[in-house]
Amino acid sequence: MTGTRRVAVAADSPFGLGNLPYGVFAPPGGEYRIGVRYGDDVVDLAVLLDDSTFVRSTLNDFLARGPRHWREVRERVRELLTGPLPETAVHPVADVRLKLPVAVGDYVDFYASIDHATNLGRLLRPDGDPLLPNWRHLPVGYHGRAGTVVVSGTDVIRPRGQLRTASGTPEFGPTRRLDIEAEVGFVVGVGSEPGRPIRTEEFPVHVFGVALVNDWSARDIQAWEYQPLGPFLGKSFATSLSAWVTPLAALTEARIPLPGQDPEPLPYLRERDAWGLDIDLTVRWNGVPVAHPPYRRMYWSPAQMLAHLTANGASVRPGDLYASGTVSGPERDQRGSLMELSWGGTEPVEVNGERRAFLEDGDEVVLTATAPGADGARIALGEVAGRVRPAR
Ligand code: CA
Repeated sequence: MTGTRRVAVAADSPFGLGNLPYGVFAPPGGEYRIGVRYGDDVVDLAVLLDDSTFVRSTLNDFLARGPRHWREVRERVRELLTGPLPETAVHPVADVRLKLPVAVGDYVDFYASIDHATNLGRLLRPDGDPLLPNWRHLPVGYHGRAGTVVVSGTDVIRPRGQLRTASGTPEFGPTRRLDIEAEVGFVVGVGSEPGRPIRTEEFPVHVFGVALVNDWSARDIQAWEYQPLGPFLGKSFATSLSAWVTPLAALTEARIPLPGQDPEPLPYLRERDAWGLDIDLTVRWNGVPVAHPPYRRMYWSPAQMLAHLTANGASVRPGDLYASGTVSGPERDQRGSLMELSWGGTEPVEVNGERRAFLEDGDEVVLTATAPGADGARIALGEVAGRVRPAR
């Protein structure tokens, strides 16, 4: 019998009993397995629960088992964490390797912030209405590239692509407008049948949790290629995902009504109690907090996004990811992309004494977020970090 120990985590810890996000980790010299983050430790669920189904390199099988299983596991884990734990179940977060928590089969990126869509509309189409006619009728989105979703901490290599020159003809080279997009991602647990759309009220049956996303973007490549079919190589080189997936069960206190929709959407997008999430994001650029995007202002709800992406009968599978699109607010320091923060490069941002518009090689961006938890405490979502490396 190995020893046991108690893990003391303060009641107001951002990673306390009310949070318990899931991730996939490997202890030094060990194989990948599923754990929950508790304070500054990772607790190995295979050891804690004596259940070998948690010796897995992704969360997908666990997610596929559905809400009843998720609830039972969470309740059992919460109960056990208050008592002595097997020493072999507890590893300091700093000592483990973390990998992409889910095998992402399909990835969709939405455009659900009215402030972001308005800002981008003003920047890209200064003479027209910033919101296109469809925007208030459907959550605009596109299918991204699942195979380049990478875990937080992975370096991002500056992409090359076609860039429009002053003469109007393109050249090929490294992007000069490398940007970020601070987003909230939703991880699908239970899949759906082809031909059967997911109704808004079925959201909790299908979606397991949330994880922060940085949708790296090359604005010059994007601006040249995007019409008429939308984002392509300006987006597909890398999308960073947090190593930790926060279950929706941890975000009960963070639920808030949507800010309001006008006009009322079509029936398949209506919800009895449409809710969003009161998540506060922070964007740090080389350690300097440059923006605090508020998720509470998002126009479309998480359930509406899922209802829309399956409205044509497209099915989803365990581990699918859909992201909200850039989270921005009405104030300058609430903008979740550098394109908006620097207003297309015309209003540089001060970072450690330098005036900057887009990312340079060696720059690091870290997204973090907090949300209301139980008893007035705040819980933290896992961070998303990435450093820019030179083009190859
Ligand atoms: Ca995006």
